[in-house]
Amino acid sequence: MAEANNNFFVDMHCHIDLFKDPVSAIRSAERAHVYTIAVTNAPFVFENTAELVATSRYVRAAAGLHPELVGSHGHQIDKLRPLLDQTRYVGEIGLDYTTLDESLREKQRHVFGRALEWCAEYSDKIVTLHSRRASADVISMVGSGFTGKAILHWFSGTKKEVERAANLGFYFSVNPAMSQSKKGQSIIAAMPIERVLTESDGPLVGVGQNSQLHPADVKLAVQDISTLWRVSFDETQSRICENFRTIIDDRSTHFQDFPEDKDSQKTRFNLRKFDGQPR
Ligand SMILES: [Zn+2]
Repeated sequence: MAEANNNFFVDMHCHIDLFKDPVSAIRSAERAHVYTIAVTNAPFVFENTAELVATSRYVRAAAGLHPELVGSHGHQIDKLRPLLDQTRYVGEIGLDYTTLDESLREKQRHVFGRALEWCAEYSDKIVTLHSRRASADVISMVGSGFTGKAILHWFSGTKKEVERAANLGFYFSVNPAMSQSKKGQSIIAAMPIERVLTESDGPLVGVGQNSQLHPADVKLAVQDISTLWRVSFDETQSRICENFRTIIDDRSTHFQDFPEDKDSQKTRFNLRKFDGQPR
């Protein structure tokens, strides 16, 4: 009954496989009760990450193809398709317009569009989105008819875009680098509180002396968000836990996606893999 209350944390976007010691990063997430989505940057690394987290209660692997890898790994897009039967979680996908190469941007849109089309064949996908300098296109491409749930990770667009995304049902995941910057804070203040989630984006992000954030460091974001919202840390944590329950659509004591009993977890994932039914 440990999780009956909102005493957990959520890291909706962490690159577990990029830590020097991924196993200890997973263990620290477990110890701190942080439900963690381990995003992957290309289909060929999914299996390794899925194996790493296979016995974890708190960490789940997501399948993705990072927009910044589309130039080198875009040809792997077809390999993403079958992975969507193995996990409910998708990411990192999206667009990154730091490149000024229009043909590469077009290729990114093609890859992202395919991934979204496939996700839409299911009804329960949870997708974590990269949108650097491309927020308007990312929001439009997901659009209004998406059958899953979309999370804008480390959103850096405008307040108007926050409003537009929120009206379309998007969520936002906030990391400590964002919550500690003035620009980030003004964006967070524009988000509806029922759409705010946390993330570490570790180990790619650091703040202050902490050069590589871990899942448990989402507490720093919770602290900053509580200051912005002018409510207590506990109230903020509780709100984010509620938002997590809503996005995974699970209000039970023990989340189905995160079973305590590893064997039942294996059974569930094997069933997903073999029954051939999109969901
Ligand atoms: Zn990332």
